[in-house]
Amino acid sequence: MRYIYPFDFHHERAPMEMKDLLGGKGANLAEMTSVLKLPVPHGFTISTDACREYLKTGWPVGLDDELEKALSELELKMGRRLGDPNDPLLVSVRSGAKFSMPGMMDTVLNLGLNDESVEGLAEATNDQRFAYDSYRRFIQMYSRIVLGLDPSEMDLLFEETKEKVGAETDADVPVDALKSLIVSFKEIVERETSKEFPSDPTAQLKGAISAVFGSWNGERAKAYRRREGISDDLGTAVNVQAMVFGNRDNNSGTGVGFTRDPATGEKGIYGDFLVNAQGEDVVAGVRNTEHLVALKDRFPEVFDQLVDIFHRLESHYRDMCDTEFTIEQGKLWMLQTRVGKRTGVAALKMAVEMTQDEWIKLNKTEAVLRITGDHLDQVLHPQFADDNYKVLTKGLGASPGAAVGKVCFSSYDAVLRVQHGEKVILVRKETSPDDVQGMLAAQGVLTTRGGLVSHAAVVARGWGKPAVVGAEAIKVAERFFQVGETTVHDGDIISIDGTSGEVVLGAVRLSAAEPTSEFNTILSWADEIRRSKLAVRANADNGEDATVAAFFGAEGIGLCRTEHMFLREDRLPIVRRMILADTEDEEAAALEELRVAQRDDFLEILRAMSGLPVTVRLLDPPLHEFLPDVEHLMVKQAVEGLSEEEERLLGAARSWHEVNPMLGTRGVRLGVIKPGLYAMQVRALVQAAQTLRAEGGDPKVEIMVPLVVGSEELKLARSWAQDVIDELGAKDLDITIGTMIETPRAAIRAQEIATFAEFFSFGTNDLTQMTFGFSRDDVEGRLMSSYLEKGLLHNNPFKVVDPDGVGELVRMGIERGRSAKSDLKVGVCGEHGGDPASIETFYEAGVSYVSCSPYRVPIARLSAAHAVL
Ligand code: ADP
Ligand code: MG
Ligand code: MG
Repeated sequence: MRYIYPFDFHHERAPMEMKDLLGGKGANLAEMTSVLKLPVPHGFTISTDACREYLKTGWPVGLDDELEKALSELELKMGRRLGDPNDPLLVSVRSGAKFSMPGMMDTVLNLGLNDESVEGLAEATNDQRFAYDSYRRFIQMYSRIVLGLDPSEMDLLFEETKEKVGAETDADVPVDALKSLIVSFKEIVERETSKEFPSDPTAQLKGAISAVFGSWNGERAKAYRRREGISDDLGTAVNVQAMVFGNRDNNSGTGVGFTRDPATGEKGIYGDFLVNAQGEDVVAGVRNTEHLVALKDRFPEVFDQLVDIFHRLESHYRDMCDTEFTIEQGKLWMLQTRVGKRTGVAALKMAVEMTQDEWIKLNKTEAVLRITGDHLDQVLHPQFADDNYKVLTKGLGASPGAAVGKVCFSSYDAVLRVQHGEKVILVRKETSPDDVQGMLAAQGVLTTRGGLVSHAAVVARGWGKPAVVGAEAIKVAERFFQVGETTVHDGDIISIDGTSGEVVLGAVRLSAAEPTSEFNTILSWADEIRRSKLAVRANADNGEDATVAAFFGAEGIGLCRTEHMFLREDRLPIVRRMILADTEDEEAAALEELRVAQRDDFLEILRAMSGLPVTVRLLDPPLHEFLPDVEHLMVKQAVEGLSEEEERLLGAARSWHEVNPMLGTRGVRLGVIKPGLYAMQVRALVQAAQTLRAEGGDPKVEIMVPLVVGSEELKLARSWAQDVIDELGAKDLDITIGTMIETPRAAIRAQEIATFAEFFSFGTNDLTQMTFGFSRDDVEGRLMSSYLEKGLLHNNPFKVVDPDGVGELVRMGIERGRSAKSDLKVGVCGEHGGDPASIETFYEAGVSYVSCSPYRVPIARLSAAHAVL
């Protein structure tokens, strides 16, 4: 097997399509080198095959030989040798997995320097300061990244030295100071590792390569892969590349650039650069950067060249690209490119505009495929609801959306506190990959340093997490921060707006965002793609939700839960009277009161959805949910005694108490025990439909019976509904009657059940609960997280439907149901209806509509388009 490929290797396919083998960075370096012929420093990629082999059995057999050969080829191309005491070749060692991944090993620069070669570098460049600055950077990086030492001691020494010699920037530190720093750094290494700092360049190189491979299995990388659903088996590639020097002099520099604004999608180049600096300086946000357009004045030729390259990249990748580049003594070098991450707003704007751009010309389907559910989610992110607040300070709006939470200064704290149900804003000077878990847990992120491409900004944008960065007025201390006279303590509530960059002390009221016009354009294209194949409905329990659902484009209601109406404060006493009724008359009277109330509720919903189907589920939850808490009443009884009414409630609550209420008297079972209940609900519903019809509206009612396990049950429940419809003379309303399939038995017996149903709706929450035997209400905490961590489950099955087990029951249910009734309509209601991966599973199973919460409807419309493509 071949392990190493030079960037200019002649591959059979376009290298950019070989990310599996070369990793993302390596694939694109090869693409830029051999296809686009851009100025890229020579180098080679050690493939992911080598990484997988390394992780399995250690340093791969044969890799040494290949490495030696690749290195001498590189040396030949460069006319320099690694570690040569005269004019040495230096290289960078860069990790690069298929998907870019925080937590992977950071890049080591200037590798190949030692006490001899540094002199060679100084002579060849005629610049002692530059050579020794590169050397001290190298030792610092190698010690932290490869040897795993805590960087703070060296960082502190460097800062102290800068202060002592009065250096404003890193480039102002004189040679002597650098030399003595290098001695101290090496002493630290020896003290901490009991070994000398490696001086042999080949040993340095192999050390760095092993460290990249090893970082694949680091905790941070693993955590990130879990969050993103990336397989642990991919492995990473390693790129070894000849160094170019942005820290050479003031005619040099380094930067990051985007072909369009990744935050807004606005056309025009965007990015940051730093004069006389090396790469990580920009990304880490340790020094304040200049905007890319400032290049125009300082380096006019480079600027023009860069603009041209950006255009070529966009035409070639047919998308917005981000780049990393370095200028060495006036010459431009491209060090990285990839299709860039972007905010939801930007993604939408770019996708729509790129259908117009001559050099890209996306078609509508491609544009729709560019948008993810997360993008839409971000656009629907909350914003500050009013402008009635005082701004404490302002930073850069780095990732849109507003967030409110308690100030929290460490990633560790953030994770703990969120586990305890708190909402936090993570406040840091700057973030590093160590903070990733805290950032994930937090509502939002606030940093005091760094620009729009700092770590905090990039990671937060990728996740759609609100972030404000570079709020320089904030001085962070251990457990508090200060802005001028104001001190904000750990645990105090703040609000941040990741669009405007505002930071506010206290909680600002938040509101949902306004969708942009591109949002509607993309969704209308998505609708064209999916409409005839997969419909999207919403779950809505009242007129208000139904109106929101219609606004977001729902094509009907897939689930109206009638119990939510019963739980309203003014209805609860009536429900209780019905349960407590001693006589039939009492029960009938209570039911009659409920009927009137329900009729008005139904009318509101049907009106909001006139012309569209509305599926109403008859009462589902265990009745004890409507009764007061037994324990609470018993305590009261002991302390102060109960009223007569309360005594009766206690008695009822006791008698309805069940050990396993979720497997108890609920759904159609309730109807069986209290037959008047379902008849009453149907009566209310039919009357509401008749009223709407009389008003000139167009009610389309579907009555749904929950928790059925067999055909006999459904036949019985159906007869009550049918009797009422007949009695009210509502045949012309074409009301259909169907059932939920939410027990495994119902899926298995779907064929006979279908003979009594015009439609099925899969209630995948309960179906998941009962298929796994996982209690929905208890499984989420400890148990689920262990299962996910240990890889016993790939996803939480309550979020992403289990395609193999539950999915199989859905497929079987549909097949068996349709074998009895070929035109059986089939939908899905429940949380899974708004989840992209689940929507795909459902579509493939033959479902004709999904139903989800009103705010998820846009995401479901998009995902449905993706699923049918
Ligand atoms: P990341 O994946 O974190 O972006 P990179 O491998 O891209 O890491 O390296 C970070 C930075 O290091 C680059 O943006 C670039 O500025 C600098 N760098 C990497 N390789 C070289 C090189 N061969 N010459 C000069 N600078 C380099
Ligand atoms: Mg990195
Ligand atoms: Mg990079």
